[in-house]
Amino acid sequence: MGLATYRRKRNFSRTPEPDGGAHSTKGAGAGRHYVIQKHAARRLHYDLRLEDGGVLKSWAVPKGPSLDPKEKRLAVEVEDHPIEYGSFEGVIPEGEYGAGRVLLWDRGHWIPQGDAAEGLQKGRLKFRLEGEKLQGGWNLVRLRNREEGGKPNWLLIKEDDETAAAQSERNILEERPESVASGKGLDDMTQGGENVWHSDR
Ligand code: MN
Repeated sequence: MGLATYRRKRNFSRTPEPDGGAHSTKGAGAGRHYVIQKHAARRLHYDLRLEDGGVLKSWAVPKGPSLDPKEKRLAVEVEDHPIEYGSFEGVIPEGEYGAGRVLLWDRGHWIPQGDAAEGLQKGRLKFRLEGEKLQGGWNLVRLRNREEGGKPNWLLIKEDDETAAAQSERNILEERPESVASGKGLDDMTQGGENVWHSDR
C-alpha cells in the first residue's frame, strides 16, 4: 500500500503526526514492532499496528482487543502508517484528519507464525505478541463480505493459550487503561504542550 494514502489525508504543517519521511525503511531482519494506540477520535477506538515491509500495517479496532478467544473483535483495515508513528502519543488538532487524543496503549514486538506476507494476502494472519500488556497467540482473519471499494473488515481473535482469559474475568482495557509511554490516561491529555514525541528507545 505504501504511505501515499496516509500522507494525502494529513496536513503536516498542522498535525504533530510524523510525515514518514525519516527512517521509514528498515533492512530485512530488523525487529518487527507492534503497537496499539488508543485513539479518542469522534469515536474511541484502538489502532493495531504491525510492522511489515518498512511500514506499519494498520487496523482500527472499535471495541479494542479482548483476551477472550470467544470475543471476536472487528478490526477495520486502514492505510499503512510510517514506522515513526509507532512512538507517537499526542493530540491531533481539531479539524485535522483523526482529530483527537492518541495514547500509546501497548507496544512491543510481534512474531508472525508462518509467512507474514502470505498471511496478509490470504487474510489469515497468525502471530504472537510480546507487548507490555498483550502477549501470546493472536489471529487476524479477513471477512469475505466487504462492500465494493470499502475497507476490508477483519476479526481480531485471541488464541486459546495460557495468556487467554474469559472476558467476564479479565477486561484488559479497563484493567490497564494507561499509556505505556507516559503512564497517563486519556483524561490527562490536553491539546497544546502535549504533542509529545517519545523516541522509540
Ligand atoms: Mn485511529
